[in-house]
Amino acid sequence: MSETAKKVKIMIVEDEQRIARFIQMQLEHEGFLTEMEPNGRRAYERIAQGHYDLVLLDVMLPEMNGFEICTAVRKLSDIPIIMLTARDDLDDKVNGLDCGANDYLTKPFEPKELLARIRATLRNYHPANDGDGHGGPRLVCRELVMYTDSYEVTLKGEKIELTKKEYLLLEYLLRNKRTVLSRNQILQEVWGYDYIGDTNVVDVYIRYLRSKIDDVAEDKYIHTMRGIGYVIRD
Ligand code: CA
Repeated sequence: MSETAKKVKIMIVEDEQRIARFIQMQLEHEGFLTEMEPNGRRAYERIAQGHYDLVLLDVMLPEMNGFEICTAVRKLSDIPIIMLTARDDLDDKVNGLDCGANDYLTKPFEPKELLARIRATLRNYHPANDGDGHGGPRLVCRELVMYTDSYEVTLKGEKIELTKKEYLLLEYLLRNKRTVLSRNQILQEVWGYDYIGDTNVVDVYIRYLRSKIDDVAEDKYIHTMRGIGYVIRD
């Protein structure tokens, strides 16, 4: 077990649990840290948040396929990606490399071969930054990315300009993704306990955010839960 292998964290994106578990066993035996994700869309988000050193990526996945994930991740990061493709499917290999994967491996493969590819890929990887010029933590909701170190927000790779309050409101929504937040919760968190005024200010700022995000993306990110509040979800 090498010194570097101990610290490397690998995300296994594979919806066939039997295969995922098998890969996990092999990798952990070699001293790699692993996490597994069977759902394509969630895998993209977990990878985009930047906690892994390498990704093993199956092609056929629920909700978002491996090529789509790879293409989307490459807009944010140059993290090493090895595609796990169907046997002898040349299209899969070509597509995999076209979308920016570092290598591919056809199923079924020998554990030894997988480990050799992982080591070679890691050896060849010299990160200059996280690929999009940003380091540091991110909050991600589909194609909306917030870089919390630099206070920058991008939508489909394009920077969007937010006022300080809009930024704080969006950050609160993103940190609580899929959780419905009441106007009062939002008011207390973003405007502070001593804010004097009514909760209409929340609706006004939600409108501002929608005009800069939902309208531009032509897609709904911020949802209204009538009589309750707001939620951002993918
Ligand atoms: Ca699959």
